[in-house]
Amino acid sequence: MTSTKGYAAISAKSELKPYAFDRRDLRVDDVGFRIDYSGICHSDIHQVREEWGEAIFPMVPGHEIVGTVTSVGANVTRFKIGERIGVGVFIDSCRKCNNCLNGLQQYCLEGMTGTYNGYERDTKQIAFGGYSNYFVIPESYAYKLPENLDMAAMAPLLCAGITLYSPLKKWKVGPASSVAVAGLGGLGHMGVKFAAALGAKVTVLSHSDSKENDARSFGASDFINTSKKDWHLGYRKHFDLILNTVSAQVDLEPYLSTLATDGSLVVIGLPGAPYSVSAGSLLDGRRSVAGSKIGGVPETQEMLDFCGDKNIVCEVEVISADHINKAYERTISSDVRYRFVIDCSTF
Ligand code: NAP
Ligand code: ZN
Ligand code: ZN
Repeated sequence: MTSTKGYAAISAKSELKPYAFDRRDLRVDDVGFRIDYSGICHSDIHQVREEWGEAIFPMVPGHEIVGTVTSVGANVTRFKIGERIGVGVFIDSCRKCNNCLNGLQQYCLEGMTGTYNGYERDTKQIAFGGYSNYFVIPESYAYKLPENLDMAAMAPLLCAGITLYSPLKKWKVGPASSVAVAGLGGLGHMGVKFAAALGAKVTVLSHSDSKENDARSFGASDFINTSKKDWHLGYRKHFDLILNTVSAQVDLEPYLSTLATDGSLVVIGLPGAPYSVSAGSLLDGRRSVAGSKIGGVPETQEMLDFCGDKNIVCEVEVISADHINKAYERTISSDVRYRFVIDCSTF
């Protein structure tokens, strides 16, 4: 066992506090690593505060993890001590269902094993996430990180990055596409960067004017403030794809009216309450509402390699561990440019 320091929530009502625990010993196919940086995803906040229902406490959140390998099991072939390593939203899956065999581990038919707020597949111990200074993972669920990118700025790629990359690929976005990204937060800003890198025309749908300059600097050519009345009227049947990353409940109807024929609105934000959609909005123009959850192992590695090739990283604000609770409040009030990342040497 390796003693590990981190931060945990003890209940949905309490602030996160310093928390010490043990990581299991390495098995033959495991990699042990020092966590260097860990991103703060809005999902961590939903989860800690039980906005999605049942939560498992104590909870050490964190599923945007980058670090440096410190030990390897006897059968490990992909990683060496001293190399960079990344871990995302899951640490294991059944490895035998059709989805796992097709590289869609996030849709494992038995359920993916989450990086936290779940139980490790075999030991049945609570899985503790990345707000900590040491991690153990089977090598086939870890990622190689590009050497040319800043470590802290890469951490959010492991969730925010792959979650936007995957639907852009699934819906075959390219130079002919008109893509809207709703919500310019941790996820949304990566959607803008990726869609622009794929050659699409990108519009940001944001609920204030404050992020317009940033949106354009990330590659958007158009910016709409959705808090303005009737914002959608000038964009009827306009977008091929809308990626909705908004973390709060919004009325989807105005967004649907801006979808072109055969356009899709992909639900990515998870506010916790159901959306309502009128049949007429879907029938007119054969529109679709779809969903997308992170990405599988091969696609996550592809996304990281793409970022290395194109020099794409996240915009981050690095904080020490004692700023986590404050960072939660600022994230909720959309006051983050564009992802908080914890320096894990401060645990
Ligand atoms: P975030 O950084 O907090 O960004 C969310 C954005 O939503 C904000 O920046 C803001 O953008 C907009 N927003 C927030 N409150 C709003 C309100 N009251 N009205 C209108 N717009 C509002 O969050 P994130 O980490 O990107 O995560 C976004 C959502 O995706 C969360 O619900 C998270 O749980 C979910 N998520 C899903 C997946 C998946 O696999 N599908 C993966 C990770 C996270 P503007 O200021 O531009 O309006
Ligand atoms: Zn996340
Ligand atoms: Zn499976």
